[in-house]
Amino acid sequence: MQSLPRVALVGRPNVGKSTLFNRFIGARQAVVADIAGTTRDRLERDLTWNERQFLLVDMAGLEPTLNEKSEIRIGMQRQVQVALQTADVIIWVVDSIEGVTGTDKIIAELLRRTGKPVVVAANKCDHPKHELSHMEFAEFGFLPVFPISAMHDRGIEPLLDEVVTLLPEQGQGEQPDTERELKIAITGRPNVGKSTLLNALVGEERSVVSAEAGTTRDSVDTIIPADNVFGNLFTRWRTVRIIDTAGIRRRGKIDRSIEGWSVIRSFDAIDAADVTLLLLDSTEGLVHQDTQVVERVLDAGKPLIIVVNKWDAVLTEKNLIAGTEEDDKAQGAFLDTLRHSLRFINWAQVIFVSALTGLHIKTLGKLINNAYIAWSREIKQEELDEITGQLRKMPRLVNLRKITFEHSKPPVFHVHTHGKYLPHFSTRRYIDNALRDFFELGPTPIKIWVKRSTDKEE
Ligand code: GDP
Ligand code: GDP
Repeated sequence: MQSLPRVALVGRPNVGKSTLFNRFIGARQAVVADIAGTTRDRLERDLTWNERQFLLVDMAGLEPTLNEKSEIRIGMQRQVQVALQTADVIIWVVDSIEGVTGTDKIIAELLRRTGKPVVVAANKCDHPKHELSHMEFAEFGFLPVFPISAMHDRGIEPLLDEVVTLLPEQGQGEQPDTERELKIAITGRPNVGKSTLLNALVGEERSVVSAEAGTTRDSVDTIIPADNVFGNLFTRWRTVRIIDTAGIRRRGKIDRSIEGWSVIRSFDAIDAADVTLLLLDSTEGLVHQDTQVVERVLDAGKPLIIVVNKWDAVLTEKNLIAGTEEDDKAQGAFLDTLRHSLRFINWAQVIFVSALTGLHIKTLGKLINNAYIAWSREIKQEELDEITGQLRKMPRLVNLRKITFEHSKPPVFHVHTHGKYLPHFSTRRYIDNALRDFFELGPTPIKIWVKRSTDKEE
């Protein structure tokens, strides 16, 4: 899929970014698709203007840190860093009633350093007589300045006209099938360490990226520039979205005893995610809710990584050193029990980590990356014909006629056979394993439909 160019709305709080965002949505000539509204639908929208399609990104979610006066400078720098890393065009919204402020000067400097095209939208020019007030923003050199009123729908079309002329040409920029955002769901029951893991992933940059909830919304996704997570491992994405799941970052706000609630919330997150992490507490193991999460992941056809957290506690308790043979043995024993309880998903990856100390967190990044690659892999018919030829040499597979690939995410195959009977379950298992081996589909669920074709059809 060709990924869309991104247009970011940035600016101080209260200048009218949200109003403008909504106005753009109202002005859109055609909505192609709303980006799978994970949990916060205001954040990004797919728009088409003058036959150019782009993703409008509202950075308003970053504002909470900006409200604290002392944080303004740092907050703004970080906001611009995000824009720098993820946007193709930046719309800088300023307040023409208030005029140029000290913060605007800082923002202008930071925007200039990004080297990205910047369009200044001088908002709150509600009436023609206000129009000249936008002129003072010309001093920053991002010209022309567009006088607009988001609230009264003035000047919106010329602004959009300008924005789309600044979009990169189609086919330029990132590789065509580079996905721009990796969506990860971190599930698990309360206290397994979800928030701690989120912190470990986001680290210092957490406040940059946090899309904090407004008071009227009930969910919080965290969006991180991809190269802030796992170093340069995630180069195929621009951003990583950690989908809000119950229990993450809500300490004290919800009654954690309502465990059922957290499972339901996990379901939504799994449906929206590319890759799901299921956290277990290594001092406690698997519980019923975990099995429910696993079943949902299977239904949704998403890759699953089982993250056995708090492994540091096990090491301490057993007086073991990480990476030693004894550590391996302890992991092996835990794995045996786990595999026994989760026989139905023998493909799920398992990793032992400590979100608290950072143990194996980098390796977790590799697993996520590999899982995504397997899940989204496109398979060619020539490759399938090759494996079909090999499989047919097996006595029990002489009736195999053809294997076709329907689609990825998750990979779905059709197995066509001759003969009177459908292949036995164990034979299907064999085909499943062979496809996994051949195409390195290890960490993803796959679906196989078996079809018996009559002579006539051939
Ligand atoms: P944000 O914090 O930048 O997202 O700003 P909002 O969109 O929440 O708007 C902040 C305030 O400015 C709200 O009270 C809006 O009603 C008001 N506002 C937004 N656009 C305009 C405008 O074009 N003219 C006037 N007069 N007020 C506006
Ligand atoms: P959540 O409810 O799943 O978000 O869990 P939290 O992240 O709030 O963690 C619950 C408790 O487990 C906190 O006291 C954490 O400090 C602790 N914890 C989280 N991860 C680890 C870990 O890797 N090792 C140890 N020893 N404690 C951890």
